[in-house]
Order: sequence, then C-alpha cells, then structure tokens
Amino acid sequence: MISKVSHIGIAVKNLEEAIDIWTKLGLTVEGIETVESQKVRVAFLPIGKEVRIELLEPTSEDSPIAKYIEKKGVGIHHLALASDDVINEMQKAENNGLQLIDKTPRPGAHNASIAFLHPKAMAGVLLELCQEKHDH
Ligand code: ZN
Repeated sequence: MISKVSHIGIAVKNLEEAIDIWTKLGLTVEGIETVESQKVRVAFLPIGKEVRIELLEPTSEDSPIAKYIEKKGVGIHHLALASDDVINEMQKAENNGLQLIDKTPRPGAHNASIAFLHPKAMAGVLLELCQEKHDH
C-alpha cells in the first residue's frame, strides 16, 4: 500500500552549493551517499520524521540527472511515494495501464528498493515507488 511521501528529489549541479541554500531554511543534512546505479551523489535533509528532501548531483556526464539538467535545468526532479511492497505497486500500476520505466525494482539510496513510473503516464510527474528499509 502506498502510505506516505518518502522524499522529493531535486536535481542540482553542485551538491555543496545546494546544501548551502537548503540549510539556510534551518534544515540539516542527515547524510550524503553515492548511489552508483544511478550515478548520483545524494544529500538527505529530513523534514520531520517521515519526509526528506534529496539533493541529487550527477557523478558523471551520462548520469540520468546530468541528462535531466541538460534538458530541463535544475529543480524538482521526482516525487517518491513510499510503499511496503514495491513489486506489488508496480504490478498494480502496470495492470492499470501505467507505463513503468523499471521492469524490476532497483537499489536506491538508503538501501531502498525503488522503481520509476514514466512522467508521460503520470501527467508530467516522474514518480518513484520506494520501499524503504525499516531499520530506524
Ligand atoms: Zn528518489
């Protein structure tokens, strides 16, 4: 079941500069992690206990984030909704005719299992389904 917003992903060119901006609101950086599978460096800034801002900096020119910035510029990149069963959500979405980008879940930041739905299927929103690891 989709239960909450997990995080909002924001594409940035320079992680340190973006952190500088976002921490001016009083948010704090919980951690920084490199996700090799997506060629990004990610900074996590929790908002309350459940939601995070994730700042995404490309680590190479062929990173999906680098390509996104090239096309659309920096800014909000994706919305992630949390589910306790990402495979079930993907099947449900596919059965209902929504176009998936990922046919199988892939590893995301925070050891989550993630899958993306195509923005064309979601009225312009790149939507991530995210099964978080429950160890905190
Ligand atoms: Zn994400």
